[in-house]
Amino acid sequence: MSIMGAILVIALLLLSIHPHAGRQKKQYFTNQGKIFGTYYNIRYEADKDLHESILQALLAFDASMSTFNPTSTISRLNQGVDTVLDTYFLTMYQTAKEVSELTNGAFDITVAPLVNAWGFGFKNKENITPEMIDSLRQLVDYRRLSLRDAADGQHLVNPLAGRGAIDASAIAKGYACDVIADLLRSEGAENLLVDIGGEVVLQGVNQEGKPWRVGITKPIDDISGQQNEIQEIIESTNMCMATSGNYRQFYYEGGMRRSHTIDPRTGYPAESDLLSATVVSTSCMRADALATACMVLGSEAGMALIEQLDSTECYLIIAQSGDSMAVRTSSGFPLSESR
Ligand code: ADP
Ligand code: MG
Repeated sequence: MSIMGAILVIALLLLSIHPHAGRQKKQYFTNQGKIFGTYYNIRYEADKDLHESILQALLAFDASMSTFNPTSTISRLNQGVDTVLDTYFLTMYQTAKEVSELTNGAFDITVAPLVNAWGFGFKNKENITPEMIDSLRQLVDYRRLSLRDAADGQHLVNPLAGRGAIDASAIAKGYACDVIADLLRSEGAENLLVDIGGEVVLQGVNQEGKPWRVGITKPIDDISGQQNEIQEIIESTNMCMATSGNYRQFYYEGGMRRSHTIDPRTGYPAESDLLSATVVSTSCMRADALATACMVLGSEAGMALIEQLDSTECYLIIAQSGDSMAVRTSSGFPLSESR
């Protein structure tokens, strides 16, 4: 054996004793905080804490999607300012359009004039008249939106710009989970859980080397949002899941429980039988939009829609007479074995 050969053998032996030689050992990190008027809870295995990069990504996202930030892309569009669309907006727009088409407009990001008229938690409902709803409905229709190519990038064509508004809040939280999960993957993380306000992306395993466990909360009448009783535990290593539920904001009218979701086809709060809809899909953005769509469609049409889609499942909690409720799951929903 030559000297070089001997050195190589020794180097290989050393490497086999120290398989991680030269590589920093990965560890699990947890980053938590508040964003988009809700919380985030992010766990991942990486070489270093990525909280700073996560915050930067969340702020960049907010600068596109937020309706509270007056200079965001959506706010500028809603003020009637012609603006070059950023990648976040364009990606959100494509998925929103796809889900609107799938649901014949039960999901519609142009619903804002109706949402604003009804008010947060429907606090303006006393002032609503059928005439108001009729005129506002003229401003709500995703089909009037389209994209235009220009030398500087893509622009939105919105004939009602400045009057009809766009509201991505039914899809943005889920999309933000995808964005953060991608960021973590690009930093080398293979084991991760991203939870933003109850929308979740998970991949790989937790700190104990076991599948991640997430809960679907019970739809209890809890306006404070303080109670979080678990209805079901889902155990999985790879999943994007979003929940839309009316149990945080609702009111009774004519003995009927009305949700905080608007049915764009009628202009009134959705008269659905669902207390909550949890959807698992190929992206968290898609799951989020589909969960909101199910809340509008109700259990029958919602289930029919989900069963017809590939790699998409749902867990529906249905209001029954009195205070009781029933659960319906699509054929492939990933319920844990150990429940
Ligand atoms: P949550 O996670 O709070 O249950 P959703 O994802 O269902 O929320 O989004 C609800 C929000 O979406 C509402 O507050 C409103 O701004 C908007 N919205 C209401 N109805 C619709 C609809 N039919 N299509 C799209 N967005 C809607
Ligand atoms: Mg949603």
